Amino acid sequence: MAKTGEKSSHESYWVELLAKLGNDKQVREVAGKISKAYVNTGRRSTLTNNNVKLRLGIALFNAGVEEKPYYNDEYEEYALGQREEVPVEAGNDEVISEEVGTFPMGFVFINPLKNKIGLPLQFHRCLATTKNQFIPKTKYVSGTVPQYEKLIENLSFVQKRILGGQPLTLAEKILYAHLWDPKKINNIVKGETYLKLKPDRVAMQDASAQMAILQFMLSQMSSTAVPTSIHCDHLIEAFKGSDKDVATAKITNKEIFDFLRSSANRYGIKFWGPGSGIIHQVVLENYATPGELMLGTDSHTPNAGGLGMIAIGVGGADAVDAMADIPWELKAPKILGVKLTGELNEWTSPKDVILHLVGKLTVRGGTGHIIEYFGPGIEKLSCTGMATICNMGAEVGATTSLFPFTSSMYSYLTSTRRQQVAHQASLYSSYLKADVDAKYDQVIEINLSELEPHINGPFTPDLSTPLSKFSDFIKKNGWKDEIKAGLIGSCTNSSYQDMSRVVSLTTQALDKGLQPKADFFITPGSEQIRETMERDGHFEILEKVGGHVLANACGPCIGQWKRTDIQKDEENAILTSYNRNFRNRNDGNPSTMNFLASPEIVTAMTFAGKLSFNPITDTLIDKDGKPFKFSSPFGDELPSEGFAEAQIDTLADRTADIIISPDSTRLQLLEPFQIFPGKEYDNLRILVKVKGKCTTDHISAAGPWLKYKGHLENISNNTLIGALNAENNKVNVVRNALTGTDDTIPNVARYYKKNGVQWVVIAEHNYGEGSAREHAALQVRYLGCPIIIAKSFARIHETNLKKQGVLPLVFKNDDDYNLITGSDVITTIGVVGLKPDKDVIIRVRRGKNGDYKEFDIETKHTMSEDQIEWFNKGSALNLIAYKNSSRNL
Ligand code: SF4
Repeated sequence: MAKTGEKSSHESYWVELLAKLGNDKQVREVAGKISKAYVNTGRRSTLTNNNVKLRLGIALFNAGVEEKPYYNDEYEEYALGQREEVPVEAGNDEVISEEVGTFPMGFVFINPLKNKIGLPLQFHRCLATTKNQFIPKTKYVSGTVPQYEKLIENLSFVQKRILGGQPLTLAEKILYAHLWDPKKINNIVKGETYLKLKPDRVAMQDASAQMAILQFMLSQMSSTAVPTSIHCDHLIEAFKGSDKDVATAKITNKEIFDFLRSSANRYGIKFWGPGSGIIHQVVLENYATPGELMLGTDSHTPNAGGLGMIAIGVGGADAVDAMADIPWELKAPKILGVKLTGELNEWTSPKDVILHLVGKLTVRGGTGHIIEYFGPGIEKLSCTGMATICNMGAEVGATTSLFPFTSSMYSYLTSTRRQQVAHQASLYSSYLKADVDAKYDQVIEINLSELEPHINGPFTPDLSTPLSKFSDFIKKNGWKDEIKAGLIGSCTNSSYQDMSRVVSLTTQALDKGLQPKADFFITPGSEQIRETMERDGHFEILEKVGGHVLANACGPCIGQWKRTDIQKDEENAILTSYNRNFRNRNDGNPSTMNFLASPEIVTAMTFAGKLSFNPITDTLIDKDGKPFKFSSPFGDELPSEGFAEAQIDTLADRTADIIISPDSTRLQLLEPFQIFPGKEYDNLRILVKVKGKCTTDHISAAGPWLKYKGHLENISNNTLIGALNAENNKVNVVRNALTGTDDTIPNVARYYKKNGVQWVVIAEHNYGEGSAREHAALQVRYLGCPIIIAKSFARIHETNLKKQGVLPLVFKNDDDYNLITGSDVITTIGVVGLKPDKDVIIRVRRGKNGDYKEFDIETKHTMSEDQIEWFNKGSALNLIAYKNSSRNL
């Protein structure tokens, strides 16, 4: 160990450095102090010469003295160095703090010159809490460290060469930094241009992961192209409490979990088993990184925007793109700026920001937009609070939501053991915020100081009522003034801050001998949160007032709630801190009125048991018969002792078999689709000529069919059952051209398939609109459909069809739709040698026994060269598999 006064072995470096600093006295003084502090505190035993260079190099980069941060030879990157922490002893910390300050993990920053050198001003907050801040001792680091250099290189090419140097919003910066091949772009028009992007990560929940993995298997890749994780959270029913419910789910869903676990192991995917947590909370705690791009197969994926990430909810087919290294397409979104000013009041929480905003924008107001928050108000928000706001941005239909990098993100990353990510982000913080003078397509301003708590619902999240007016709202509607259950937690609101504020209220009530008047349920978002709450005594308090702790899973938020306190269809009201409240969502009862509020408001109102209760102004009666009014809630943003180390992701034997029972009705391996035989299609039958709307719900219905999501053959029994037949004005009734009898659409399709007859669908405008459900494309292809002819296609579904090797053709003349009848037979001209922009002729034959007439209809398509390759190989994944096998020859 170095002794005080010992000569620095890296003296020459300091001499060189000080020479570089020139005559700036302040900077020289501080640099000298750093050197001295290290030596005097004996830190040199743990800090190598390289470490010191790194720290000072970073400070000099931030100060503009150096053009680039110090290059770390050891790790071959511009980095803050250590993969392992430097042990920090309290005594040493204090000595250094006096002179220059410290960061957790022993990082040095230069306090006296923070404007000139060292980390940006926004890190004052870290400075203030340094001494008390928990310094994780674990060596475990989740996720990956972003490669900001590469992203910035891409961005700067796009910004300078394509956009003429115009200032950009943060969302634009992150998207354009992730362009697949920026050199192939000529211009970007928001709302028009389709961007081909390269996501950094994929996360999937257990319901949607099944078909995504089954498809990915067809690629014959040995591992996913980007880091990927699976989270078992949707299939656990809330009934008897956490442990029992998880145990039951492991039995009832064994085949699904076995399949997901075994395939995750095989492909190097991180697997989070049942009970480990809800996808978005786990992602926030482990994988979300500022400035990166993630796809998640769940609509509340934008939760990660609370950590400055662009995180977009997609269908399984999109996730497969990223996993299989296929460019992922997104229409360049417009950017809706939300300027936050002021500071939240004591009873108001981040949830109220989004409850208020959803009311303003309505459920469609964010469509085609990314919501980007900015303004002085964001500096006072916790990282998890920002995640709540981004999570519920899905309720306005926004592509995603995000915040710029803030000091609370730094603290959260550090507290969740991702120091390296935190420091990289701070190093590149100018990339992680909007450019000065960036233009938003629309701006909404919210003054947090004027915001009051809101309650939204019932039945729609955009029916937003300020708390002070809620009592009148209930009276006006004549609803019973009673709350049957209060539910807090879920992926939206189960942060340490949320829970500790709830506990502050519960403690007050407990002291006054009060118990909730309604059932009270708590859903922790992850095992990490659950274990931390348990360690810090939160559950002891919550359970003392009769709170039921449910599994770390979606449970009542997604209808997995075996409720026993009401009769079927009984009208009743519940209050939740969740994000979505459509009819039937929580308990399958259409008469349950489900209101959304912050966890604090839900908790206080659950004690009252009345919808009219306003905890800010109203009183309850305590055990001594005296009036009791809640004091405002308070709580720690982060646990002072750090998060408990809970279950982490698992990755086991990568050579083990993927487990699918041959008798399974819920899972089935996919067979690669046939390649294009290289000759024109002949004798194609018309399965159905659809009249009017044909959404992905009409093509592949949800509801009870969802349990077959992993079994293409079984789920195909719902194919087009919602389609209205233009021939007979009946839903799901068509004529079987081979037998002459009427039957359901899936039955006729199966009959054709069995008899080797291929078929087409004729449709009107916007075929395949609605959710991006890959099954809608997979099923028609599976049952024998090579072509769909429509007046127009919904863009996402059109791409999904192309990926599965189906050719979407569009009538050149809309009226030609009327020329075709359900009993016609079709031949193609122009599918062989298909080229972009080259039309395809549909030759229609009508009549029988040699007595028939023929006429031609012109159609066009939007297939690119790449997509034509998909078609020729039978599907996009076939092409990947083909390329992989050629590479391996
Ligand atoms: Fe979706 Fe609710 Fe689960 Fe969150 S908790 S992932 S919103 S179902």
